[in-house]
Amino acid sequence: MRKYNFNAGPSILPKETIENTIKAIENFAGTGLGLMEISHRTKEFEAVVDEAASLFKELLNIPAGYSVIFLGGGASLEFCMVPYNLLEKKAAYLNTGTWANKAQKEAKMFGEVVEVASSKEANYSYIPKNYTIPSDADYFHITTNNTIFGTEIHTDMDCPVTLVADMSSDIFSRPVDVSKYGLIYGGAQKNLAPAGVTFIIVKDEILGKVSRPIPTMLDYRTHIKEGSMFNTPPVLPIFAALQTLKWLKSIGGLQEMYKLNKEKAGLLYDEIDRNKLFKGTANVEDRSLMNICFVMNEEYSHLEADFYKFATSKGMVGIKGHRSVGGFRASTYNALPKEDVLALIETMQEFEAAQK
Ligand SMILES: *Cc1c(COP(=O)(O)O)cnc(C)c1O
Repeated sequence: MRKYNFNAGPSILPKETIENTIKAIENFAGTGLGLMEISHRTKEFEAVVDEAASLFKELLNIPAGYSVIFLGGGASLEFCMVPYNLLEKKAAYLNTGTWANKAQKEAKMFGEVVEVASSKEANYSYIPKNYTIPSDADYFHITTNNTIFGTEIHTDMDCPVTLVADMSSDIFSRPVDVSKYGLIYGGAQKNLAPAGVTFIIVKDEILGKVSRPIPTMLDYRTHIKEGSMFNTPPVLPIFAALQTLKWLKSIGGLQEMYKLNKEKAGLLYDEIDRNKLFKGTANVEDRSLMNICFVMNEEYSHLEADFYKFATSKGMVGIKGHRSVGGFRASTYNALPKEDVLALIETMQEFEAAQK
């Protein structure tokens, strides 16, 4: 049976990414050797890292003065690397969910942390709007897309201090004004590549300002200087990321991707709002384009398990909501075709029609 992959992460990748990576595992760049069996210092692999970094710059229109590096450790390691490298006295954090909390927790080990606002009291169903960022903070940290709660910051804000963003689950889903940010990071396994590589986009001039010693591996400057080759980088995920970047470019870049993402998410939210069985959980204006969370309306809550079973029988995969929200979550990442969203909508309509 055809499967529809709505997994939240790791998640669906473009078929070009999978096919090209399979080929390279067998025979990489005409070397006659497999991608996983060669030195990362071969000129063929160095070209992969260089091209991936330059496509990051091209697709996101990254201004001069920024570096792009690829590391291991996941977004979770960045939760501590960011304060290690940037927090001298005080940092500000916006609390919009589980990942934002985890980031904030690590920062507390390095200095004073001010939580400027939180939507915890409403189970993170909205993005707080009116808050004050202390002007003496070393940086302000946001999570642009809250993968678990299905909320998203849709604009690139003006920030009085260095803006740092975890974009793990919405990177490349829309054009970003990188010049508004000091540092952007994310794990690749939501919208870019298999797990194992983390991307960091950093404005060079914000580094080197803290007084603490930084272990070599945790110092961003090490990896900038060595072109992500200080130690063995995650070779296979970087190769796969390059394939996804090429695919993004081939479909017309981020303007085009954004248009498609708005269309896909719009179709599904419209159905959630129309269908009498379901309702969305996130504040309408903060609804994520990537992770669409919905639950049964109260009067139909007894049908939750039945809908899950029915959807599974139709080939829907990964639609169970995270335990902290319940209900359902359909992740509509870049690589998910519009037809798959339409198939889920049809499933919701069929299930509604059967409840006579
Ligand atoms: C998945 C996710 C993380 C965690 O990423 P790891 O690479 O597993 O450490 C952090 N932040 C956000 C927003 C995520 O979606």
